[in-house]
Amino acid sequence: MGVRPNVVVIGAGFGGLSVARGLADKPVEVTLIDRQNFTTFQPLLYQVATSGLNAADVAHPVRGLFHEQANLRFRRAEVTGVDWDARQVELLGQRPVPFDHLVVAAGATATWFGISGAEEWGLPLYTLDDARRLRNHIVERFEAADAQPDLIDEGALTFVVVGGGPTGVETAGALAELVAVVFRRDYPHLDVGRAHVVLVEARDALLAPFSPGSQLHAAETLAARQVDVRVGESVAEVGPRHVRLGSGAVIPTQTVVWAAGVRANPLAEMMGLPTGKGGRVVVEPELTVPDRPGAWAIGDIAAPAGRKGDPLPQLAPVAMQSGAHVARQIGRLLDGRRPQPFKFHDKGTMATIGRRAAVAELPGGIRLRGTLAWLAWLFLHLLYLAGVRNRASVLLNWAWSYVTWDRGPRLILRPDLGTDHPYPPGSTEAPTDASTGAPADEQT
Ligand SMILES: Cc1cc2nc3c(=O)[nH]c(=O)nc-3n(C[C@H](O)[C@H](O)[C@H](O)COP(=O)(O)OP(=O)(O)OC[C@H]3O[C@@H](n4cnc5c(N)ncnc54)[C@H](O)[C@@H]3O)c2cc1C
Repeated sequence: MGVRPNVVVIGAGFGGLSVARGLADKPVEVTLIDRQNFTTFQPLLYQVATSGLNAADVAHPVRGLFHEQANLRFRRAEVTGVDWDARQVELLGQRPVPFDHLVVAAGATATWFGISGAEEWGLPLYTLDDARRLRNHIVERFEAADAQPDLIDEGALTFVVVGGGPTGVETAGALAELVAVVFRRDYPHLDVGRAHVVLVEARDALLAPFSPGSQLHAAETLAARQVDVRVGESVAEVGPRHVRLGSGAVIPTQTVVWAAGVRANPLAEMMGLPTGKGGRVVVEPELTVPDRPGAWAIGDIAAPAGRKGDPLPQLAPVAMQSGAHVARQIGRLLDGRRPQPFKFHDKGTMATIGRRAAVAELPGGIRLRGTLAWLAWLFLHLLYLAGVRNRASVLLNWAWSYVTWDRGPRLILRPDLGTDHPYPPGSTEAPTDASTGAPADEQT
């Protein structure tokens, strides 16, 4: 038997896992590389941030997913670049890994749009550490306000969520519920009624990819749950104690949740891949990278074209389907056949707003709202979550919360995860601009 080609996959997210699984029965050796030893189910991060789920419920060790796949090797490492001449991937502090095929599936990262103070003071929600940091911070603000109620006047209990896409809507809805239902009981001596959740969206409507009916439903449902929805309002500046809007309005706040959008992982540029809007890798219809033989890019880091030529959205189904496609095309190449173009099958889109409230738009013009959409959302998220144990734990948490109106882990764990933030753990003091540095990099 000859030497089997090496396929290196960068990233063990939705896209990378899908390629790796698709190569299980192919005559190749797969090396799957990720800087974390776990995969994260990003669609449920907002529930970790708002004390609905444990961090471990939405993550799964990568090695545990491949016990049965003999041709796969996992490597925990940070990819720093690629040597195209030597055809090897460069890793931080480890030996390079040679490849015959390279699949880049390194995802995306938060983008700040150059808004003054946003990166310094905003709290993104992209990684598990982001979610835990945000949870710590939210609970800390309540503890601080309980110890010193005049902090409420300085925005300690005002939570501004920037970005009215699905992540912003879900986070604002969950935060409003956490405050109204759980914190009201947790802090009986605090005037929790003065807590305030504001959702700011620059476009004229929430949930941009949805129909006007669903957008309106989301806005009305949030408003009924005491979320202050401000559409057509941009953020001009973020500071340690305030947000200034484009209209000039200033909101005193100590919490700005940044859900305003993503850009492709800068690794694409570090690797010398051709990039376009949002830093996304330019790909051929087959998902190969032009002028980089053997290289493929999938998921959030890439910009595959949809039917009308526009780039497909940065969503989990695109990542999963493009991953499966690349695995099939590598198989075709090994059989001496030409690769085929990628065709995305849109199975619809959905967003949850809160308890028994969601919107879902399915092929064939089917539109669901309210409880039915919410149940569909719960079911699909359980289905795609990695690991039976995680599914059981999430289901139990959801059932418990539904029946008792209680929330799970509103614990301030690993307080060090909060020390890089403007409001360090336990502090009742809000800092001035000069008293703190920029947030540390993502923690591993
Ligand atoms: C908060 C949030 C909510 C979302 N909700 C939804 C939703 O409801 N529905 C939906 O369809 N989509 C949702 N998405 C989008 C969806 O999660 C992404 O489209 C999907 O994760 C993209 O998959 P991917 O494989 O391209 O990247 P990812 O899943 O992000 O995986 C990238 C992997 O690459 C690794 N990596 C990155 N850089 C390096 C490096 N230098 N070296 C080694 N490893 C590296 C990362 O650790 C990560 O594991 C949401 C995203 C977020 C952030």
